[in-house]
Amino acid sequence: MHNILVLPGDGIGPEVVAEAVKVLEHLHDEFGLKLELAHGLVGGASYDATGSPLPDVTLAAARGADAILLGAVGGQKWESLDIAVRPEKGLLGLRAELGLFANLRPARLYHQLADASTLKPEVVAGLDIMIVRELTGGIYFGRPRGIRTLENGEREGYNTLVYRESEIERIGRVAFDIAMRRGKRVCSIDKANVLECTELWREVMIRTGKDYPDVELTHMYVDNAAMQLVRRPRQFDVMVTTNMFGDILSDCAAMLTGSIGMLPSASLDATGKGMYEPIHGSAPDIAGKGIANPLATILSVAMMLRYTLDEPVLAERIERAVERVLDTGLRTADIHSEGTQKIGTVAMGDAVVAAMAD
Ligand code: NAD
Repeated sequence: MHNILVLPGDGIGPEVVAEAVKVLEHLHDEFGLKLELAHGLVGGASYDATGSPLPDVTLAAARGADAILLGAVGGQKWESLDIAVRPEKGLLGLRAELGLFANLRPARLYHQLADASTLKPEVVAGLDIMIVRELTGGIYFGRPRGIRTLENGEREGYNTLVYRESEIERIGRVAFDIAMRRGKRVCSIDKANVLECTELWREVMIRTGKDYPDVELTHMYVDNAAMQLVRRPRQFDVMVTTNMFGDILSDCAAMLTGSIGMLPSASLDATGKGMYEPIHGSAPDIAGKGIANPLATILSVAMMLRYTLDEPVLAERIERAVERVLDTGLRTADIHSEGTQKIGTVAMGDAVVAAMAD
């Protein structure tokens, strides 16, 4: 029995999560997936109801679940709140408390949506990259950090980039393991020519890679990687990198596909337990209109089945269904183009469920 905690969150979160839950329930009803779903509060919706973006009861449920399906958090309504109770704290709190150190962000271009990319179709056609980003260490968490006033009265901001060997090795292993199931190529991104911390990063990657003789390991400086992502993105299979470099590169890679409403993500702990969510935010501009694209969240369920629940066949069933729906020309507003049929969030969820039949 798989225990899944559903956290819809704010804005379009509840709308897209409802469609992903529909897919999960269909897998339960028709394909024998053993499933127990629990629902919880997170983000602004949780703040409104409880005064906290991550109440103890949600955290306890998250700890007890095998996997978490999250929509999105945030919105203008909560922007003036103290930073300690802002919706984003709910998300960051979950990541930190659950030790979700490995962020997996695939950037895949569906050939049916090749026109959506700002890059030429011949550059992005067939694009299928997995970015593995370290999520709980590096400069975003390193100490000391802050803003101090110098003797001359000028202020100085400072942060610390720090990685232990064990932190590098464990994210490296995630990347190598994933590469074994894909194209067997890992490109480790660093700035080893300037930053000692990433000199160590490269050394540990090479050492760890020796345990994976079937995987080809290459290295690239982050500035070159940014350039190569827009120049010749198909050269990459799996990219593994630090928290900050991954933050930037994964957004860049996502945009190569042109459609934020299509991209799922996973954040995993050391045991493979994970939180799954679309990469987009709560999209307050379209919330409540029934037009949000639920495919990123539905594809996050496919990632959940593959990486935590060990149900790769069902994961493929979802991914195939999404392809089929796109083949038939059905599109939500964000990916709609001439000659395709515009449908809403619920209709898109229904179409995916129908396309799962076989
Ligand atoms: P956003 O991703 O919410 O929206 C950016 C643009 O993309 C908007 O025009 C939106 O309408 C569109 N869009 C996003 N998802 C879509 C979907 N599924 N279907 C169709 N169109 C979609 O980013 P933003 O506007 O910068 O942020 C809005 C709020 O979301 C902010 O409060 C921000 O802090 C929060 N946010 C949350 C997360 C998260 O929960 N993981 C991530 C990013 C932003």
